[in-house]
Amino acid sequence: MHRLLARQLKKLGLSQDKLPSQQQWAKLLTTIEKSYEASDQDRYTLERSLTLSSEEMQVLYQKQKDTYESRLESILNAMPDVLFLLNEDIKCLEVMSGNKRILKDNISLALGKYAHEVFPEDKARLFKDAVTRALTKDNLVVVHYELDINGETHYFEGRVMPTNYVVDGQRTAVFIAIDITKRVKADVQSQIITTMFDSSREGMLILNNKLEPVSYNKAFCDLTGETPDTVESGMSALVKRLFSSSTGNRIKESMMDDGYWIGEVTGYHKSGESYPLWLSINKVRCNTADTTNYVVMLSDVSELKRSQEELEHVATHDALTNLPNRILFQDRLEQAIIRTHRNDTLGALFFLDLDRFKNINDNLGHLVGDDLLMQAAQRLKQICRSSDTLARIGGDEFTVIVEDLHETDELAFIAQKILNAFKEPFALKDYKLEISVSIGISIFPQDSEDPVEIIKHADTAMYSAKELGRNTYQFYTQELTSSAFEYFATEIALRKALENNEFFLLYQPQFNLESNELIGVEALVRWRHPDMGIVSPAAFIHIAETNGQIIDIGRWVIAEASRQCSVWKAQGMPDLTVSVNISRKQLVVPNFADDVSAILEEEGLDGCQLEFEITESSIIENKGIAYDNLNNLKAMGINMAIDDFGTGYSSLINLKQFPLTRLKIDQSFVRDVTKDPNDEAIIRATIALAKSLQLRVIAEGVETENQRKFLLMEGCDEAQGYFYSQPVEADEIIERYLHHNHIQKSVQFK
Ligand code: C2E
Ligand code: MG
Ligand code: MG
Repeated sequence: MHRLLARQLKKLGLSQDKLPSQQQWAKLLTTIEKSYEASDQDRYTLERSLTLSSEEMQVLYQKQKDTYESRLESILNAMPDVLFLLNEDIKCLEVMSGNKRILKDNISLALGKYAHEVFPEDKARLFKDAVTRALTKDNLVVVHYELDINGETHYFEGRVMPTNYVVDGQRTAVFIAIDITKRVKADVQSQIITTMFDSSREGMLILNNKLEPVSYNKAFCDLTGETPDTVESGMSALVKRLFSSSTGNRIKESMMDDGYWIGEVTGYHKSGESYPLWLSINKVRCNTADTTNYVVMLSDVSELKRSQEELEHVATHDALTNLPNRILFQDRLEQAIIRTHRNDTLGALFFLDLDRFKNINDNLGHLVGDDLLMQAAQRLKQICRSSDTLARIGGDEFTVIVEDLHETDELAFIAQKILNAFKEPFALKDYKLEISVSIGISIFPQDSEDPVEIIKHADTAMYSAKELGRNTYQFYTQELTSSAFEYFATEIALRKALENNEFFLLYQPQFNLESNELIGVEALVRWRHPDMGIVSPAAFIHIAETNGQIIDIGRWVIAEASRQCSVWKAQGMPDLTVSVNISRKQLVVPNFADDVSAILEEEGLDGCQLEFEITESSIIENKGIAYDNLNNLKAMGINMAIDDFGTGYSSLINLKQFPLTRLKIDQSFVRDVTKDPNDEAIIRATIALAKSLQLRVIAEGVETENQRKFLLMEGCDEAQGYFYSQPVEADEIIERYLHHNHIQKSVQFK
């Protein structure tokens, strides 16, 4: 007996000798079916093992067949696809599908028909070809085709399999038509997205929820300069850099909280170049895979910005001269007013109008007029500092905004510079034309703080300049105009003063406070003006500093003081130090130290017999060259003192880096000693600090005995002032101090 049957009989509690009843057979067979796919061999074994009558066998087979068919039907009914049984002529012998709708609609119409009667010709041919191939090769053949069903295109995959079933002498094949429309559409969609991703001009980068790069496109490589070999590490570096700054943290927060971020950041090319990058990041949540990704889109917006800037430039600049136009000028003026207010400085508006421009334009033509305007703009540009705003605000009207002024004197100087710029004739076409300019100046915030008014004032002043005969300048306020002319009268006279030997030096003695010994003198320049008599340095040093004449005057002072020093030395006062005041402008002359060295050599002097007095601001303002000059001078043995200490803003600590030897307390503090406790406190602190930096301290402007006593008590080392002596001629120094090297002599001169 077959082992399976034997086992089943045993399970049913039957012996092999005792054959089961009909019911028991049915149960037995169901059990076998469940666990056993009956093959012919098995069925035969089964038949043989059961000594059944042929009727009983018939019943059994019938039952088995019914069960099989109903199972097959259930399977087919569950199948969403359509199954055709086709013969070699592609006649449809059977059609089945779980999709009742399709069956009902039209497919069932195919039953009993040839393919070409139901399907379009090309499809019928395709099916025939597929069936023939499947039957010939006895293998599966797959074809793809599309059909219009109810006005919609459906895509199908046809799977053709040969069967053993022969009908009317023809072989048959099963054709399963699977509707793959959804899959095809999804494929197309994903292909479009992939193409978009790959060919997009925007750099794209996909990050996972840990902000690690997952994918990137070609544009991303181009944008970052990474190659496929380095892109992985480059990508990580970019992401790291992107999120490491404080902006990066904000981006991250916004990505997590709001799911997106959009804005501009700085991008870095692998070459090290930086560029503006427009960045948009969006959170993408995929529910099916339960993941979160971030899609980062990057685009280089430098081109866009450049064209924006170009547009802005065109809108704010004059096309002919490329200077700022009225719009930009007004904006700059407003800004300048705010700044001067904040910094407590002065600003000025120069309103320029070319003289007789209309004549040139009308008589020589617009082209010549344009050429003149361009050349005038060029000349003005050359004399303006980069911080000034030169604009063309109308036909022949130019404006210059100058900021950060401290003295109104500087304005006349600038105005004169502008007039001078027009002195040379202009080469226009075949002509050489002399063209002048009239200038109106208004000062802010002095004259007004309102931009419109400031322009109006400057314009009014420009008209007064025209009325005065052109080629001149006028201030909005008359007093300034007068003082400006005084300034220029002085400037012109100063130019001749050196040539005419009109300068001379006075010397003010300096004493040791404790021993009353004369230790040195301060050289103070005077100007013997042919008409005005003796002019104090306070009246001309500032002008000389503004126009640069101080360089030559200062050089003369050093030479004269050195000459005098060597005379005194020869006369028997070898230890006298001469202090010379040095202007901030001298300190920034690159070969200043060489000049001084040449002078010392000529006079046969040691550097240590000179002291240079400089103000705090002059070295703090010009750290670079001034610092080098000071070190070179120090190397030559020249002493270095800070003059007028306390009037600037620097602290002693700031001055520590400079090679100083002495500190001069300004006379304004000394003046109120014994009256103003604040001044006393300042002096006390200054002395203490100077000592801690190993600097000697001298007080200037000592006029009374009380002042002297106070300074002595506080530990000040030296002093000068009217209490001891006014500045005197060189000869008097010898007369007074050669044999009595102490204070008593000078007291008589008080
Ligand atoms: P400074 O260097 O602070 O010189 C001291 C000024 O105070 C001198 O004025 C001096 O005459 C004056 N003075 C001296 N003792 C007393 C006193 O007891 N009471 C009062 N009220 N004044 C006193 P001066 O000579 O008119 O010089 C003024 C300023 O001109 C100097 O100030 C210095 O900054 C500058 N200066 C003078 N000569 C030169 C020079 O050759 N080159 C440069 N660049 N500047 C110079
Ligand atoms: Mg001085
Ligand atoms: Mg001083």
